[in-house]
Amino acid sequence: MQQVLNLMNGVLIPAGCGETIDNISPATGQKIATIPRSNDSDVAVAVKVAKIAQPAWATLSIDERAEWLDKIADALESKIDEIAAAESEDTGKPISLARDVDAARSVSNFRFFANLLREKPKEIYEMKDATNIVVDKPIGIVGLITPWNLPLYLLSWKIAPAIAMGNCVIAKPSELTPMTAFLLSQILLEVGLPVGVVNILHGFGPEVGQAILEHPEIGAISFTGGTATGRHVAATSAPMFKKLSLEMGGKNSTIILADADVEKAVAGSVRAAFLNQGQVCLCGSRILIADEIYDEFANKFVAKVESFKIGDPMDEDTSFGSLISNAHRQKVEAYIDLAIKEGGTILTGGTRPNLQPPFDQGAFLGPTVISDLSPHSRCSTEEIFGPVVVLHRFTSEEEAIAIANNTEYGLAGSVWTEDIDNGIKVAEAIDSGMIWINTWLHRDLRVPFGGVKNSGVGREGGYRSFSFYSEAMNINYPK
Ligand code: NAP
Repeated sequence: MQQVLNLMNGVLIPAGCGETIDNISPATGQKIATIPRSNDSDVAVAVKVAKIAQPAWATLSIDERAEWLDKIADALESKIDEIAAAESEDTGKPISLARDVDAARSVSNFRFFANLLREKPKEIYEMKDATNIVVDKPIGIVGLITPWNLPLYLLSWKIAPAIAMGNCVIAKPSELTPMTAFLLSQILLEVGLPVGVVNILHGFGPEVGQAILEHPEIGAISFTGGTATGRHVAATSAPMFKKLSLEMGGKNSTIILADADVEKAVAGSVRAAFLNQGQVCLCGSRILIADEIYDEFANKFVAKVESFKIGDPMDEDTSFGSLISNAHRQKVEAYIDLAIKEGGTILTGGTRPNLQPPFDQGAFLGPTVISDLSPHSRCSTEEIFGPVVVLHRFTSEEEAIAIANNTEYGLAGSVWTEDIDNGIKVAEAIDSGMIWINTWLHRDLRVPFGGVKNSGVGREGGYRSFSFYSEAMNINYPK
């Protein structure tokens, strides 16, 4: 049984109160670790430690800090299989996905921000009679709060730019998925990152997470998680004028226009719907299909969904793992029951698969496709965050755009068409932070990432991350 520990002051330690929380593998229901149940006292100590470390860290040169990020990337890369195995066991996601997406991206997050820091242009604006120099000063101590669906991927996406800009961090991973944050803690000790620069505290959101939000010396909060929690994060932090970045939920549309290449659109939209068992904020969980090709698309879509191999996440051939927990599966099942009550037709899935022990105790649920619902129904407009998609027919592009915009969310989506110019026109009409055309989840780390409406506030990615994790100051002097 592994004992996950906090990283604080350059050592791995339990919570000050000594209490722990059980960590359960969702694919088997078995306990795999205990984690510290940290609280406000641990946050208070971490802030003291970070305050001591921050001035020296901030005075390192850009090249020195970039070198630290590269060292972390190299160390993560040398443990890619270990990271993938830990992520798969902790989340229930297929090992191939954990290796190719989660582990690989954690490495590239550190490497990308190291290179971007080296390339960061100096901002100098000359006037006739004066010069302006823009200096990006670190905020000081920043709080990072992350969810369970892409644990190390999202944690590293925040830690790398935050420390690159000279901040020290206090991070709280989801208590459901602590394992790779603990691996990262061990790696940071191995590479010898200066004490106190990164502090990782485990525990419950309303306890240790809340203490991070409330601590007056934490100057910025970068939060990724659900919209309801994000609202609470904003309500708590905004009166203290903390800088806030909120990456929240989504209900993203995949729009299949009449001229789409159906084979490509089916392959792309199945991946967009069900990657990580539909537990990606960017997943296309409502599919809007032009009337002319609806039947052909729906038949091929269902056939492809039925070809998933469901089961042991550690098996290289598995393409569909378990949900994050039994509680989450029950929430998703409640939406399926609701869909049936609202007149929906289950085209495939909707039930728990029959699996051998120990996976019969896991939180598995078959990929589910539902048709015949109103686009205004709750299943079509609320975030389910699981393996459930709804199919809708449209008769004009205007109707497709209206359906796509008919949710409280505005995170992402995709448009499938053979006419790129028209695809761009449709994309621009959607209230969303990101739209892909004929692809999905193709990411250049320099581009803005984030949502509109109830999906987010602010953008991360590339220089926008650097802007968030710093305060721009202008210095003007006469010539
Ligand atoms: P969540 O319940 O909102 O939790 C997110 C994080 O907030 C967790 O670490 C959680 O800790 C913590 N938290 C909870 N209450 C808190 C409080 N009072 N103060 C401070 N922190 C608190 O979200 P989730 O269920 O883990 O993740 C799923 C959601 O994340 C979905 O809505 C998904 O769309 C969204 N998401 C968005 C993006 C994006 O980039 N837009 C990316 C990934 C996921 P506990 O785990 O202990 O509750």
